[in-house]
Amino acid sequence: MTPPPLKLAVFGDPIGHSRSPQIHQAFAAQRAALQPSFAIDYAAVRCPLEQLPTTLAEFQQQGGHGLNLTLPLKQAGADHCVALSAHARASGAVNTLHWRSDLNGWMGHNTDGVGLMADLQRLNLDVRGRRVLIIGAGGATAGVLPALLAAAPAAVWVLNRSLDKAEQLCQQHASSAIPLQAGSLSDGSVNAEAFDLCIQASSAGHQQQHLPLSRQWLSASATVYDLNYGSAHQPVADWCHTHGIAVHDGLGMLVEQAAAAFAIWTGWSPQTSSVLHDLRRELN
Ligand code: NDP
Repeated sequence: MTPPPLKLAVFGDPIGHSRSPQIHQAFAAQRAALQPSFAIDYAAVRCPLEQLPTTLAEFQQQGGHGLNLTLPLKQAGADHCVALSAHARASGAVNTLHWRSDLNGWMGHNTDGVGLMADLQRLNLDVRGRRVLIIGAGGATAGVLPALLAAAPAAVWVLNRSLDKAEQLCQQHASSAIPLQAGSLSDGSVNAEAFDLCIQASSAGHQQQHLPLSRQWLSASATVYDLNYGSAHQPVADWCHTHGIAVHDGLGMLVEQAAAAFAIWTGWSPQTSSVLHDLRRELN
């Protein structure tokens, strides 16, 4: 008898822009080429923060096996897990949940850090010894910060619209050997610093809002890596083009973090380059 499709989903708010269903269907097609009975049922579910407990409970009752969480649910998601992976624990945020019948609960993972580092490697962007500026202090920054610190940069600054959130994140990693500093995005206090790599991890682009970025923050050969893609990437892309700065969007990270989640749910690692190639062609 053919087994039922693996029940998977992504929850977030907004969710209409999500490419996750398409990416996971592409991974599933790769798997089905090796194992024809393999199939997934991957849904995109709009889930405001206050509805997470009920939506998650319903999903589990319906046989949910694996779940991705996107903004604004990553930090709250950790509270619904009976166990956390080392990456999830270090970041205090989860983007991947795996129903574990042996634990009778959700195991929380965070694949954003692995996804970002894999894409930086693909782009030949070094972190070791470089000065790294992160814009934003939400769930995505929480997810990637441990991986960035582990890659031995010379220093990391986290600038956020709300200073308290940047300070809280830096406080969580106060024991790191890497100099780590929080700042407010609007107070101009980083004017003297020349960063080599800027990780743009705010969601301002979703509202087509322009960030108060300063050219002086970046060294002559700096690169900006924007976690956003599609129209949400446009404001940062325009700013970089105006100032002659190399810029990459976060489509590669999206595919890599998804591949790591798929491997957690299925025990099998999909191939990512063809999936990224197809997505890029569509986006263009
Ligand atoms: P959160 O909602 O957790 O955090 C949003 C962050 O953006 C906060 O730091 C917030 O600042 C900041 N922000 C929002 N609007 C503005 C604005 N107008 N000006 C300045 N700062 C602003 O979202 P996530 O951290 O989960 O996600 C951040 C972005 O990264 C999203 O756009 C998401 O789509 C993208 N992402 C991409 C991934 C990929 O694989 N490519 C993976 C994960 C995320 P404040 O604290 O002041 O509210």
